[in-house]
Amino acid sequence: MSIQTVSGGMTAPTWAESGQPYPYARTELVEPDWTRFPGWKDVTAEDWASVQWQRAHCVKNVKQLRTLWGDLVEERFYEDLERDQRERATMSMLVPPQMMNTMAPRDVPAGPGSLTEAMYADPIRRYMLPVFSDRRTDWPSHPHATRDSLHEHDMWVAEGLTHRYPTKVLAELLPTCPQYCGHCTRMDLVGNSTPVIDKLKFLGKPVDRHAEMLDYLRRTPSVRDVVVSGGDVANMPWPRLEEFLTQLLEIENIRDIRLATKALIGLPQHWLQDDVRAGVERVARVARQRGVSLAMHTHANHANSITPIVAEASRAMLDAGLRDVRNQGVLLAGVNADPNSLLDLCFALLDGAQIMPYYFYMCDMIPFSEHWRVSVADAQRLQHHVMGYLPGFATPRIVCDVPFVGKRWVHQLADYDRELGISYWTKNYRTSIESTDPEALQRHYEYYDPIHTLPEAGQQWWRQHSGDNLVEAERLAAESRRAAEQQALTLA
Ligand code: SF4
Repeated sequence: MSIQTVSGGMTAPTWAESGQPYPYARTELVEPDWTRFPGWKDVTAEDWASVQWQRAHCVKNVKQLRTLWGDLVEERFYEDLERDQRERATMSMLVPPQMMNTMAPRDVPAGPGSLTEAMYADPIRRYMLPVFSDRRTDWPSHPHATRDSLHEHDMWVAEGLTHRYPTKVLAELLPTCPQYCGHCTRMDLVGNSTPVIDKLKFLGKPVDRHAEMLDYLRRTPSVRDVVVSGGDVANMPWPRLEEFLTQLLEIENIRDIRLATKALIGLPQHWLQDDVRAGVERVARVARQRGVSLAMHTHANHANSITPIVAEASRAMLDAGLRDVRNQGVLLAGVNADPNSLLDLCFALLDGAQIMPYYFYMCDMIPFSEHWRVSVADAQRLQHHVMGYLPGFATPRIVCDVPFVGKRWVHQLADYDRELGISYWTKNYRTSIESTDPEALQRHYEYYDPIHTLPEAGQQWWRQHSGDNLVEAERLAAESRRAAEQQALTLA
Protein backbone atom coordinates (compact mmCIF):
# COMPACT_ATOMS: atom_id res chain seq x y z
CA MET A 1 0.00 0.00 0.00
CA SER A 2 1.51 3.30 -1.04
CA ILE A 3 1.41 6.41 1.08
CA GLN A 4 -0.25 9.30 -0.72
CA THR A 5 1.44 12.65 -0.23
CA VAL A 6 -0.57 15.84 -0.28
CA SER A 7 0.78 19.33 -0.74
CA GLY A 8 2.61 20.69 2.27
CA GLY A 9 4.30 17.37 3.03
CA MET A 10 1.37 15.90 4.96
CA THR A 11 0.40 12.31 4.26
CA ALA A 12 -3.24 11.69 3.47
CA PRO A 13 -4.90 8.84 5.31
CA THR A 14 -5.03 5.61 3.33
CA TRP A 15 -8.02 3.26 3.32
CA ALA A 16 -6.37 1.44 6.24
CA GLU A 17 -6.50 4.55 8.40
CA SER A 18 -9.76 6.27 7.58
CA GLY A 19 -13.25 5.06 8.17
CA GLN A 20 -12.25 2.10 10.32
CA PRO A 21 -14.50 1.33 13.29
CA TYR A 22 -11.38 1.50 15.48
CA PRO A 23 -8.90 4.24 14.58
CA TYR A 24 -5.53 2.83 15.64
CA ALA A 25 -2.91 5.41 16.57
CA ARG A 26 0.26 4.73 18.51
CA THR A 27 0.13 6.69 21.74
CA GLU A 28 2.90 7.51 24.16
CA LEU A 29 2.50 6.31 27.73
CA VAL A 30 2.16 9.04 30.32
CA GLU A 31 2.74 9.08 34.08
CA PRO A 32 0.10 11.51 35.36
CA ASP A 33 1.38 14.33 37.58
CA TRP A 34 0.62 13.19 41.12
CA THR A 35 1.14 16.68 42.56
CA ARG A 36 -2.27 17.66 41.13
CA PHE A 37 -3.78 16.04 44.23
CA PRO A 38 -3.47 18.33 47.29
CA GLY A 39 -2.26 15.51 49.55
CA TRP A 40 0.69 14.78 47.27
CA LYS A 41 1.71 18.28 46.26
CA ASP A 42 5.14 17.85 47.89
CA VAL A 43 5.83 14.23 46.94
CA THR A 44 9.13 13.85 45.09
CA ALA A 45 10.00 11.54 42.21
CA GLU A 46 12.28 9.68 44.62
CA ASP A 47 9.38 9.04 47.00
CA TRP A 48 7.22 7.93 44.12
CA ALA A 49 9.78 5.37 42.98
CA SER A 50 10.08 3.91 46.47
CA VAL A 51 8.00 0.82 47.12
CA GLN A 52 8.15 1.56 50.86
CA TRP A 53 6.68 5.02 50.27
CA GLN A 54 3.99 3.56 47.99
CA ARG A 55 2.97 0.90 50.51
CA ALA A 56 2.97 3.38 53.41
CA HIS A 57 0.69 5.79 51.51
CA CYS A 58 -1.95 3.40 50.23
CA VAL A 59 -5.48 4.71 50.62
CA LYS A 60 -7.32 2.45 53.05
CA ASN A 61 -10.31 4.52 54.13
CA VAL A 62 -12.43 7.52 53.27
CA LYS A 63 -10.59 9.73 55.77
CA GLN A 64 -7.32 9.20 53.91
CA LEU A 65 -9.06 9.87 50.61
CA ARG A 66 -10.36 13.18 51.97
CA THR A 67 -6.82 14.12 52.96
CA LEU A 68 -5.60 13.28 49.47
CA TRP A 69 -8.29 14.94 47.37
CA GLY A 70 -9.53 17.55 49.83
CA ASP A 71 -12.42 19.65 48.55
CA LEU A 72 -11.61 18.96 44.90
CA VAL A 73 -14.23 16.24 45.30
CA GLU A 74 -17.64 17.09 46.71
CA GLU A 75 -18.83 15.68 50.00
CA ARG A 76 -21.59 13.68 48.28
CA PHE A 77 -18.95 11.48 46.65
CA TYR A 78 -17.33 10.63 49.99
CA GLU A 79 -20.75 9.84 51.48
CA ASP A 80 -21.57 7.65 48.48
CA LEU A 81 -18.33 5.76 49.05
CA GLU A 82 -18.93 5.41 52.79
CA ARG A 83 -22.38 3.99 52.15
CA ASP A 84 -20.96 1.49 49.71
CA GLN A 85 -18.37 0.41 52.27
CA ARG A 86 -21.13 -0.16 54.85
CA GLU A 87 -23.74 -1.84 52.68
CA ARG A 88 -22.26 -3.34 49.52
CA ALA A 89 -18.48 -3.66 49.38
CA THR A 90 -17.19 -7.21 49.25
CA MET A 91 -13.57 -5.98 49.33
CA SER A 92 -11.95 -3.62 51.80
CA MET A 93 -10.35 -0.46 50.49
CA LEU A 94 -6.68 -0.61 49.52
CA VAL A 95 -5.35 1.47 46.63
CA PRO A 96 -1.63 2.20 46.17
CA PRO A 97 -0.71 5.73 45.10
CA GLN A 98 0.39 4.39 41.70
CA MET A 99 -3.18 3.22 40.98
CA MET A 100 -4.80 6.22 42.60
CA ASN A 101 -2.78 8.48 40.32
CA THR A 102 -4.28 6.88 37.22
CA MET A 103 -7.79 8.00 38.22
CA ALA A 104 -9.00 11.20 36.55
CA PRO A 105 -5.48 11.54 35.14
CA ARG A 106 -5.88 14.80 33.30
CA ASP A 107 -5.50 18.20 34.90
CA VAL A 108 -8.73 19.79 36.06
CA PRO A 109 -9.29 23.43 36.94
CA ALA A 110 -8.62 24.02 40.64
CA GLY A 111 -11.59 24.79 42.83
CA PRO A 112 -13.98 23.08 45.21
CA GLY A 113 -15.73 20.10 43.65
CA SER A 114 -13.91 20.42 40.30
CA LEU A 115 -12.82 16.78 40.32
CA THR A 116 -16.17 15.26 41.31
CA GLU A 117 -17.64 14.42 37.93
CA ALA A 118 -14.31 13.18 36.55
CA MET A 119 -14.00 10.84 39.53
CA TYR A 120 -17.55 9.56 39.18
CA ALA A 121 -16.90 8.80 35.50
CA ASP A 122 -13.40 7.40 35.87
CA PRO A 123 -13.01 3.76 34.73
CA ILE A 124 -10.33 2.81 37.24
CA ARG A 125 -12.18 4.48 40.12
CA ARG A 126 -15.26 2.50 39.10
CA TYR A 127 -13.66 -0.82 39.94
CA MET A 128 -11.13 0.16 42.61
CA LEU A 129 -13.33 2.54 44.61
CA PRO A 130 -16.93 1.57 43.86
CA VAL A 131 -19.59 3.89 45.27
CA PHE A 132 -23.14 2.98 46.24
CA SER A 133 -24.70 4.86 43.33
CA ASP A 134 -22.63 2.82 40.83
CA ARG A 135 -24.49 -0.33 41.80
CA ARG A 136 -27.86 -1.44 40.57
CA THR A 137 -30.77 -1.07 42.90
CA ASP A 138 -33.17 -3.38 40.99
CA TRP A 139 -30.84 -6.38 40.95
CA PRO A 140 -27.70 -5.58 42.96
CA SER A 141 -26.86 -9.31 42.95
CA HIS A 142 -27.99 -12.11 40.69
CA PRO A 143 -30.12 -14.66 42.58
CA HIS A 144 -27.46 -17.27 41.71
CA ALA A 145 -24.51 -15.15 42.85
CA THR A 146 -22.34 -16.87 45.43
CA ARG A 147 -19.27 -16.01 47.48
CA ASP A 148 -17.06 -18.68 45.95
CA SER A 149 -18.70 -18.46 42.55
CA LEU A 150 -16.17 -20.73 40.85
CA HIS A 151 -16.31 -23.34 43.63
CA GLU A 152 -12.56 -23.23 43.98
CA HIS A 153 -12.71 -24.36 47.63
CA ASP A 154 -14.70 -27.41 46.62
CA MET A 155 -11.79 -28.39 44.40
CA TRP A 156 -9.02 -27.85 46.94
CA VAL A 157 -6.74 -30.87 47.08
CA ALA A 158 -4.63 -29.18 49.76
CA GLU A 159 -5.62 -25.98 51.51
CA GLY A 160 -5.48 -23.27 48.81
CA LEU A 161 -4.54 -25.64 45.96
CA THR A 162 -7.38 -25.82 43.43
CA HIS A 163 -7.23 -28.73 41.00
CA ARG A 164 -9.93 -28.03 38.44
CA TYR A 165 -8.35 -28.78 35.05
CA PRO A 166 -6.64 -32.10 34.26
CA THR A 167 -3.09 -30.80 33.82
CA LYS A 168 -2.99 -27.55 35.78
CA VAL A 169 -3.54 -26.23 39.27
CA LEU A 170 -3.94 -22.91 41.00
CA ALA A 171 -1.84 -22.41 44.13
CA GLU A 172 -3.16 -19.68 46.41
CA LEU A 173 -0.04 -19.04 48.45
CA LEU A 174 -1.45 -16.15 50.46
CA PRO A 175 -4.77 -14.32 50.88
CA THR A 176 -3.60 -10.70 50.51
CA CYS A 177 -2.71 -8.26 47.72
CA PRO A 178 -1.09 -4.81 47.59
CA GLN A 179 -4.40 -3.55 46.15
CA TYR A 180 -7.97 -4.74 46.43
CA CYS A 181 -10.21 -4.72 43.36
CA GLY A 182 -13.91 -4.22 44.00
CA HIS A 183 -14.91 -7.08 41.70
CA CYS A 184 -12.41 -9.65 43.04
CA THR A 185 -13.59 -13.14 42.23
CA ARG A 186 -11.86 -14.50 45.36
CA MET A 187 -13.73 -12.05 47.60
CA ASP A 188 -14.59 -15.02 49.78
CA LEU A 189 -11.02 -15.33 51.00
CA VAL A 190 -8.88 -12.43 49.82
CA GLY A 191 -8.43 -9.31 51.92
CA ASN A 192 -9.94 -8.10 55.16
CA SER A 193 -13.54 -8.69 56.16
CA THR A 194 -16.02 -5.95 55.30
CA PRO A 195 -19.30 -5.10 57.04
CA VAL A 196 -20.99 -7.28 54.38
CA ILE A 197 -18.56 -10.17 54.00
CA ASP A 198 -16.89 -12.13 56.74
CA LYS A 199 -13.83 -13.60 55.01
CA LEU A 200 -12.73 -17.16 55.30
CA LYS A 201 -9.24 -17.67 56.71
CA PHE A 202 -6.67 -20.25 55.80
CA LEU A 203 -6.39 -22.56 58.77
CA GLY A 204 -2.94 -24.02 58.12
CA LYS A 205 0.34 -22.19 58.68
CA PRO A 206 1.76 -20.90 55.37
CA VAL A 207 4.84 -23.11 55.63
CA ASP A 208 2.69 -26.22 56.13
CA ARG A 209 0.22 -25.30 53.42
CA HIS A 210 3.00 -24.72 50.91
CA ALA A 211 4.66 -28.01 51.83
CA GLU A 212 1.35 -29.84 51.30
CA MET A 213 0.91 -28.20 47.90
CA LEU A 214 4.39 -29.26 46.80
CA ASP A 215 3.80 -32.73 48.14
CA TYR A 216 0.58 -33.05 46.11
CA LEU A 217 2.40 -31.91 42.97
CA ARG A 218 5.17 -34.47 43.53
CA ARG A 219 2.54 -37.19 43.87
CA THR A 220 0.55 -36.07 40.82
CA PRO A 221 2.61 -36.34 37.64
CA SER A 222 -0.38 -35.48 35.43
CA VAL A 223 -0.08 -31.86 36.60
CA ARG A 224 2.40 -29.92 34.46
CA ASP A 225 1.30 -26.32 34.96
CA VAL A 226 1.05 -24.24 38.15
CA VAL A 227 -0.43 -20.78 38.53
CA VAL A 228 1.36 -19.39 41.57
CA SER A 229 -1.14 -16.92 42.89
CA GLY A 230 -3.02 -15.58 45.90
CA GLY A 231 -3.96 -12.93 46.48
CA ASP A 232 -0.92 -11.49 44.78
CA VAL A 233 2.57 -12.98 44.96
CA ALA A 234 3.99 -9.46 45.37
CA ASN A 235 2.81 -9.60 48.98
CA MET A 236 4.95 -12.61 49.73
CA PRO A 237 8.46 -11.76 50.97
CA TRP A 238 10.71 -12.55 48.01
CA PRO A 239 12.95 -15.08 49.82
CA ARG A 240 9.90 -17.20 50.69
CA LEU A 241 8.51 -16.98 47.18
CA GLU A 242 11.89 -17.89 45.74
CA GLU A 243 12.11 -20.88 48.04
CA PHE A 244 8.68 -22.10 46.91
CA LEU A 245 9.54 -21.59 43.23
CA THR A 246 12.88 -23.32 43.60
CA GLN A 247 11.19 -26.37 45.08
CA LEU A 248 8.54 -26.26 42.37
CA LEU A 249 11.23 -26.23 39.70
CA GLU A 250 12.70 -29.41 41.19
CA ILE A 251 9.49 -31.32 40.40
CA GLU A 252 10.10 -33.04 37.09
CA ASN A 253 6.48 -32.93 35.88
CA ILE A 254 6.15 -29.14 36.23
CA ARG A 255 6.75 -27.54 32.83
CA ASP A 256 4.89 -24.22 33.09
CA ILE A 257 4.83 -21.76 35.98
CA ARG A 258 2.93 -18.47 35.88
CA LEU A 259 3.35 -15.87 38.61
CA ALA A 260 0.08 -14.01 39.18
CA THR A 261 0.53 -10.39 40.22
CA LYS A 262 -1.62 -7.36 39.63
CA ALA A 263 1.14 -5.42 41.42
CA LEU A 264 2.96 -5.14 38.09
CA ILE A 265 0.18 -2.66 37.27
CA GLY A 266 -0.84 -1.43 40.73
CA LEU A 267 2.57 -1.31 42.42
CA PRO A 268 5.23 -1.73 39.71
CA GLN A 269 7.77 -0.31 42.17
CA HIS A 270 7.73 -3.73 43.87
CA TRP A 271 9.02 -5.54 40.78
CA LEU A 272 11.65 -2.84 40.18
CA GLN A 273 13.44 -3.41 43.49
CA ASP A 274 17.03 -4.57 42.95
CA ASP A 275 16.72 -7.63 45.21
CA VAL A 276 13.45 -8.72 43.59
CA ARG A 277 14.86 -8.33 40.07
CA ALA A 278 17.97 -10.28 41.04
CA GLY A 279 15.77 -12.98 42.57
CA VAL A 280 13.58 -13.25 39.46
CA GLU A 281 16.75 -13.54 37.41
CA ARG A 282 18.02 -16.44 39.54
CA VAL A 283 14.74 -18.32 39.30
CA ALA A 284 14.39 -17.64 35.56
CA ARG A 285 17.91 -18.98 34.99
CA VAL A 286 17.06 -22.27 36.70
CA ALA A 287 13.76 -22.44 34.79
CA ARG A 288 15.58 -21.99 31.49
CA GLN A 289 18.17 -24.64 32.38
CA ARG A 290 15.37 -27.09 33.14
CA GLY A 291 13.27 -26.22 30.11
CA VAL A 292 10.44 -24.79 32.20
CA SER A 293 8.45 -21.79 30.96
CA LEU A 294 8.31 -19.15 33.67
CA ALA A 295 5.94 -16.28 32.91
CA MET A 296 4.15 -13.49 34.73
CA HIS A 297 0.42 -12.92 34.52
CA THR A 298 -0.89 -9.54 35.43
CA HIS A 299 -4.28 -7.83 35.52
CA ALA A 300 -4.93 -4.49 33.84
CA ASN A 301 -8.45 -3.40 32.96
CA HIS A 302 -7.92 -0.02 31.35
CA ALA A 303 -5.33 1.72 29.15
CA ASN A 304 -4.89 4.49 31.73
CA SER A 305 -3.22 1.95 34.02
CA ILE A 306 -0.37 1.43 31.57
CA THR A 307 2.15 4.13 32.43
CA PRO A 308 5.91 4.43 31.83
CA ILE A 309 6.76 2.91 35.20
CA VAL A 310 4.53 -0.10 34.46
CA ALA A 311 6.37 -0.51 31.14
CA GLU A 312 9.69 -0.25 32.98
CA ALA A 313 8.67 -3.00 35.40
CA SER A 314 7.48 -5.23 32.58
CA ARG A 315 10.76 -4.67 30.72
CA ALA A 316 12.67 -5.50 33.91
CA MET A 317 10.85 -8.83 34.19
CA LEU A 318 11.56 -9.72 30.57
CA ASP A 319 15.20 -8.68 31.00
CA ALA A 320 15.38 -10.87 34.10
CA GLY A 321 14.56 -13.83 31.87
CA LEU A 322 10.82 -14.42 32.11
CA ARG A 323 9.47 -15.98 28.97
CA ASP A 324 6.52 -13.62 28.79
CA VAL A 325 4.37 -11.12 30.65
CA ARG A 326 0.67 -11.59 29.89
CA ASN A 327 -2.48 -9.72 30.81
CA GLN A 328 -5.66 -11.27 32.13
CA GLY A 329 -8.17 -8.45 32.43
CA VAL A 330 -11.77 -8.56 33.53
CA LEU A 331 -14.58 -7.37 31.30
CA LEU A 332 -16.43 -4.73 33.31
CA ALA A 333 -19.32 -2.50 32.27
CA GLY A 334 -18.43 1.14 32.87
CA VAL A 335 -14.73 0.32 32.75
CA ASN A 336 -13.78 -1.38 29.50
CA ALA A 337 -16.76 -3.22 28.00
CA ASP A 338 -16.69 -1.45 24.66
CA PRO A 339 -14.51 -2.22 21.63
CA ASN A 340 -12.43 0.95 21.71
CA SER A 341 -11.57 0.65 25.41
CA LEU A 342 -10.52 -2.97 24.96
CA LEU A 343 -8.42 -2.21 21.91
CA ASP A 344 -6.86 0.90 23.50
CA LEU A 345 -5.84 -1.27 26.45
CA CYS A 346 -4.48 -4.06 24.26
CA PHE A 347 -2.37 -1.65 22.20
CA ALA A 348 -1.10 0.16 25.30
CA LEU A 349 -0.06 -3.22 26.72
CA LEU A 350 1.51 -4.48 23.52
CA ASP A 351 3.09 -1.35 22.03
CA GLY A 352 3.88 0.42 25.25
CA ALA A 353 4.79 -2.26 27.75
CA GLN A 354 5.43 -5.49 25.81
CA ILE A 355 2.68 -7.17 27.81
CA MET A 356 0.73 -9.75 25.85
CA PRO A 357 -3.05 -9.28 25.82
CA TYR A 358 -4.21 -12.77 26.72
CA TYR A 359 -7.66 -13.10 28.29
CA PHE A 360 -10.58 -10.97 29.31
CA TYR A 361 -12.70 -12.82 31.82
CA MET A 362 -16.36 -12.06 32.15
CA CYS A 363 -16.94 -10.72 35.66
CA ASP A 364 -17.92 -13.61 37.91
CA MET A 365 -21.28 -13.98 39.62
CA ILE A 366 -20.28 -12.71 43.03
CA PRO A 367 -22.63 -10.68 45.23
CA PHE A 368 -23.27 -7.05 44.23
CA SER A 369 -21.53 -7.35 40.88
CA GLU A 370 -24.51 -6.91 38.55
CA HIS A 371 -23.60 -3.35 37.57
CA TRP A 372 -20.23 -4.63 36.30
CA ARG A 373 -21.40 -7.77 34.53
CA VAL A 374 -22.32 -7.99 30.85
CA SER A 375 -24.36 -10.64 29.06
CA VAL A 376 -22.76 -13.48 27.12
CA ALA A 377 -24.29 -11.97 23.95
CA ASP A 378 -22.48 -8.69 24.63
CA ALA A 379 -19.24 -10.54 25.31
CA GLN A 380 -19.61 -12.32 21.97
CA ARG A 381 -20.16 -8.98 20.21
CA LEU A 382 -17.06 -7.55 21.87
CA GLN A 383 -14.99 -10.55 20.80
CA HIS A 384 -16.15 -9.96 17.23
CA HIS A 385 -15.23 -6.27 17.40
CA VAL A 386 -11.67 -6.80 18.61
CA MET A 387 -10.79 -9.41 16.00
CA GLY A 388 -8.48 -8.38 13.18
CA TYR A 389 -6.76 -5.35 14.71
CA LEU A 390 -4.11 -7.09 16.81
CA PRO A 391 -1.68 -9.80 15.77
CA GLY A 392 -3.34 -13.20 16.19
CA PHE A 393 -1.00 -14.16 19.02
CA ALA A 394 -1.96 -10.99 20.91
CA THR A 395 -5.70 -11.03 20.27
CA PRO A 396 -7.29 -11.61 23.66
CA ARG A 397 -9.88 -14.32 24.09
CA ILE A 398 -12.96 -13.26 25.99
CA VAL A 399 -13.87 -16.12 28.29
CA CYS A 400 -16.63 -17.06 30.64
CA ASP A 401 -15.54 -18.91 33.77
CA VAL A 402 -18.49 -21.26 34.05
CA PRO A 403 -19.09 -22.69 37.54
CA PHE A 404 -17.94 -26.33 37.76
CA VAL A 405 -16.55 -26.11 34.20
CA GLY A 406 -13.80 -23.53 33.94
CA LYS A 407 -12.81 -21.11 31.22
CA ARG A 408 -14.84 -21.37 28.02
CA TRP A 409 -14.43 -19.07 25.05
CA VAL A 410 -17.67 -17.05 24.82
CA HIS A 411 -18.61 -18.56 21.46
CA GLN A 412 -18.35 -22.09 22.82
CA LEU A 413 -21.74 -22.31 24.47
CA ALA A 414 -24.01 -25.27 23.73
CA ASP A 415 -27.32 -23.46 24.06
CA TYR A 416 -28.59 -20.03 25.04
CA ASP A 417 -31.99 -18.91 26.30
CA ARG A 418 -31.75 -15.19 25.62
CA GLU A 419 -35.10 -14.41 27.22
CA LEU A 420 -34.08 -15.81 30.62
CA GLY A 421 -30.41 -15.06 30.09
CA ILE A 422 -29.29 -18.61 30.75
CA SER A 423 -26.43 -20.02 28.71
CA TYR A 424 -25.61 -23.72 28.75
CA TRP A 425 -22.09 -25.06 28.55
CA THR A 426 -20.43 -28.45 28.29
CA LYS A 427 -16.96 -29.65 29.10
CA ASN A 428 -14.44 -32.18 27.95
CA TYR A 429 -12.65 -33.05 31.21
CA ARG A 430 -13.54 -33.90 34.77
CA THR A 431 -12.66 -31.65 37.69
CA SER A 432 -11.16 -33.13 40.84
CA ILE A 433 -14.60 -33.56 42.41
CA GLU A 434 -16.11 -35.54 39.52
CA SER A 435 -13.78 -38.49 39.13
CA THR A 436 -16.65 -40.93 39.61
CA ASP A 437 -19.47 -38.84 38.17
CA PRO A 438 -20.72 -40.63 35.03
CA GLU A 439 -22.73 -37.57 33.92
CA ALA A 440 -19.96 -34.97 34.24
CA LEU A 441 -19.17 -34.86 30.53
CA GLN A 442 -22.79 -35.06 29.35
CA ARG A 443 -24.29 -32.48 31.68
CA HIS A 444 -25.12 -28.90 30.67
CA TYR A 445 -23.75 -26.30 33.10
CA GLU A 446 -25.47 -22.96 33.47
CA TYR A 447 -24.28 -19.38 33.47
CA TYR A 448 -26.60 -16.41 34.00
CA ASP A 449 -26.71 -13.05 32.27
CA PRO A 450 -27.40 -9.95 34.37
CA ILE A 451 -31.18 -9.72 34.71
CA HIS A 452 -31.37 -6.03 33.85
CA THR A 453 -30.02 -6.85 30.36
CA LEU A 454 -32.92 -9.22 29.59
CA PRO A 455 -36.10 -8.46 27.67
CA GLU A 456 -39.07 -7.55 29.86
CA ALA A 457 -40.54 -11.07 29.71
CA GLY A 458 -37.29 -12.49 31.07
CA GLN A 459 -37.06 -9.91 33.83
CA GLN A 460 -40.65 -10.67 34.77
CA TRP A 461 -39.83 -14.40 35.01
CA TRP A 462 -36.95 -13.70 37.38
CA ARG A 463 -39.11 -11.39 39.50
CA GLN A 464 -41.61 -14.22 39.87
CA HIS A 465 -39.06 -16.93 40.53
CA SER A 466 -36.70 -15.23 42.92
CA GLY A 467 -39.10 -13.08 44.92
CA ASP A 468 -39.12 -15.53 47.81
CA ASN A 469 -35.36 -15.48 48.20
CA LEU A 470 -33.93 -14.48 51.52
CA VAL A 471 -33.01 -10.83 51.66
CA GLU A 472 -29.43 -10.30 50.58
CA ALA A 473 -27.84 -9.96 54.03
CA GLU A 474 -29.48 -13.14 55.30
CA ARG A 475 -28.52 -15.00 52.17
CA LEU A 476 -24.88 -13.94 52.49
CA ALA A 477 -24.81 -14.85 56.18
CA ALA A 478 -26.22 -18.30 55.40
CA GLU A 479 -23.67 -18.70 52.66
CA SER A 480 -20.83 -17.69 55.00
CA ARG A 481 -21.85 -20.45 57.38
CA ARG A 482 -22.04 -22.98 54.56
CA ALA A 483 -18.62 -21.90 53.25
CA ALA A 484 -17.04 -22.26 56.70
CA GLU A 485 -18.58 -25.72 57.12
CA GLN A 486 -17.41 -26.73 53.68
CA GLN A 487 -13.87 -25.55 54.47
CA ALA A 488 -13.83 -27.52 57.69
CA LEU A 489 -15.10 -30.61 55.82
CA THR A 490 -12.54 -30.22 53.03
CA LEU A 491 -9.72 -30.11 55.53
CA ALA A 492 -11.02 -32.91 57.74
S1 SF4 B 1 -5.33 -8.31 42.67
FE1 SF4 B 1 -6.49 -10.14 42.02
S2 SF4 B 1 -6.73 -11.35 43.89
FE2 SF4 B 1 -6.14 -9.27 44.51
S3 SF4 B 1 -8.06 -8.20 44.86
FE3 SF4 B 1 -7.51 -7.79 42.73
S4 SF4 B 1 -8.56 -9.39 41.58
FE4 SF4 B 1 -8.52 -10.07 43.73
